[in-house]
Amino acid sequence: MTLNLTCSIVRGRVIRMAGSTPENSDFMALAMAEARAAMDRSEVPVGAVLVDTRTGEILSRNGNRTEELNDPTAHAEILVIREACAIQGSPRLEQCDLYVTLEPCAMCATAMSHARLRRVYFSAYDPKGGGVEHGPQIFGQATCHHAPDVYGGMAEEESSALLKEFFRARRQV
Ligand SMILES: [Zn+2]
Repeated sequence: MTLNLTCSIVRGRVIRMAGSTPENSDFMALAMAEARAAMDRSEVPVGAVLVDTRTGEILSRNGNRTEELNDPTAHAEILVIREACAIQGSPRLEQCDLYVTLEPCAMCATAMSHARLRRVYFSAYDPKGGGVEHGPQIFGQATCHHAPDVYGGMAEEESSALLKEFFRARRQV
């Protein structure tokens, strides 16, 4: 018997992105555009894009809409998962990757697990509200039955700057 030692990804651990492919950057740039659009609607600036890796097609893109919809679950990630599942006609998105501009919260991480996403790329880390690298570290729990591969830190400065700008402006109101 031979052991497969080639897998460097530890379940539930976030891999910090050292660089990214042009394709990755393009998808994260679109997520960032959704975050900016969310800020223009006075929502916390978080954006997400969901991609079908079999076709390279974007299934859904959206930003936070909790204020607009009076829905505390209307985080960008939940909205793109819902729309992509409706398009695919399935509650599972096994060959799909999700790009989001902020470390997912515990609710969104759990939804990602249920959706059986292949990979999650996030931009800024969120020590206060994150549920992947911080807080409950959902994907590392024994009760989590599917953990996507997770990559953090892509275009981190840009996303952090946008979030800081939003909260600074809100404090001044
Ligand atoms: Zn969330």
